[in-house]
Amino acid sequence: MTTTSRTEIENDVIRICQELIRIPSVNYGDGKGDEKEVAEHVMKLLSEVGIESKMYESAPGRCNVVARIKGSDSSRPGLVLHGHLDVVPANADDWSCDPFSGEIRDEMIWGRGAVDMKNMDAMMLATVRDWARTGYVPTRDIVLVFFADEEAGSIFGSHWMVEKHPEVFAGCTEAVSEVGGFSVTVAGGKRLYLIETAEKGIHWMKLTAHGRAGHGSVTNNENALTRLSEAIAKIGNHQWPQRYSSTVKAFFKKVAAETGKEYNENDLTPLLSELGFAARMVGATLQNTANPTMLEAGYKANVIPGSASAVVDGRFIPGFENELNETIKSLIGPDITIETITTDKALEVPFEGDLVDAMCAAILAEDPAGIPVPYVMSGGTDNKALAELGIIGYGFSPLKLAADFDFMALFHGVDERVPLEGLTFGVRVLKDFLEHA
Ligand SMILES: [Zn+2]
Repeated sequence: MTTTSRTEIENDVIRICQELIRIPSVNYGDGKGDEKEVAEHVMKLLSEVGIESKMYESAPGRCNVVARIKGSDSSRPGLVLHGHLDVVPANADDWSCDPFSGEIRDEMIWGRGAVDMKNMDAMMLATVRDWARTGYVPTRDIVLVFFADEEAGSIFGSHWMVEKHPEVFAGCTEAVSEVGGFSVTVAGGKRLYLIETAEKGIHWMKLTAHGRAGHGSVTNNENALTRLSEAIAKIGNHQWPQRYSSTVKAFFKKVAAETGKEYNENDLTPLLSELGFAARMVGATLQNTANPTMLEAGYKANVIPGSASAVVDGRFIPGFENELNETIKSLIGPDITIETITTDKALEVPFEGDLVDAMCAAILAEDPAGIPVPYVMSGGTDNKALAELGIIGYGFSPLKLAADFDFMALFHGVDERVPLEGLTFGVRVLKDFLEHA
C-alpha cells in the first residue's frame, strides 16, 4: 500500500510513531532516565491542534504529560487513556539498524519503543488530533496521560502522579493502556485478540545469607556463598503448582472451543501448544514464578565474605501472593533473610461491561473474523498504580499481526518493530472504541 492511499489519521500515526522513536527516552533504572524531550514533543503534537496539556516533572528530566479532553456528558465518569514515554536501553551492536532510527523497512517501523509502547502513544495522539481537526467531542472526559519511568517501577511516573497529583484523575473510573488488544493466530488459523483484564502481582526480593568470614584456604562450613547458592538453586528449580485464575479459565475455554481441543480445567498446559508465540507468556500466567536475577558476593579469590546476597523476581497469580512468599521462605530455610525491594498488586476484573463490549465491537468492526478474549498479563503496567485510586485498568492497544510475527519476543528485544498495517489497524480500532466507550 502506498502512502497516498492512507487516510490522514493513518499517516499521522505512522509519522508520530517514527518521531517518538527518534527521541531516545531511555530508562536505565535506578532513577537514571530522561523523558523531557519526548514529553515536550508530545505537548507540541497536542498544541498543534489546539489541545492544552500540562507537564508534571517528578524529578529533573522525569516528565509526565497530561491533557483532559472534555466530554459532552459530564454525568459520565472519565476514562484514563495512558501510555509510558520511556523505553528500555538498546545495544546498537545487536540490532540490524540504528535502534533510534524509526526507519521504515519491509513495511514495518523499526526502533526501540515500536511495540513498547511508542506505537500506542502514537495511536493515542493520532486519535485525539483527528478529533481536534474534525471537531469531534467524545461523550466522557478522556484523560490522556503520558507517564515517565514505567520501565523501572514507575516511581517517577504513575506512582508519583497518583500520590502527588490524584486530582488529575478526578472522576475517572476506568483506564486503558498497553499489552492487550493484539492478535494471536491459534492452531487452525483463527485469530484471537487478547484483551488484558488481569495482571500478575510483583514481589522483587533481596535474599541475604550470613556466614563466617575468613581465609579462603581453611575449611568453613558456614560459608555465606554456599548457603546462598543452595537457596537460590532451590528457588530457581522449584516446580510451582498450577493455579488457575478465572481469567485464565475463561481464556482457555475459548482457546479450546476455537481449536476444537479438549478443555480440562485441572490441566490447561496441553492447550499452550495451540498459542504460537504467545505460549511462553501465557504459560507464565498459569502459576507463580520466582527467578533469581542478580548476585552479589565477595571481593577477592582468597577471602570468604561474611555475607552474600541475591535478587529474586517473584510474580504471583491474583490471590496467590501468600503462597509465593511462604514457599520462598520454606525453600530457603531460616538462615537467610528476605528484604522486599518492590511489591505491587495483582489485578483481575471480569471480562464484561460496556467498556469491554466497546473494545470487542471495535475489533469486530475492523476484523469480523476476530475473536476477542480476556487474558492475564505476566508482567505489570501502570494500571497497578491507577488501581490505588480505584480505577479499573485494561490492556487494549490494538494490533493486527501476521500469524508468524513473534510479537512477544520484541518487548525489550532486539530489532523491535511494528508492522505498518498493524499500526494503522490499531489506530482505527482505538478511535472507534473511544468513540463508543
Ligand atoms: Zn510498556
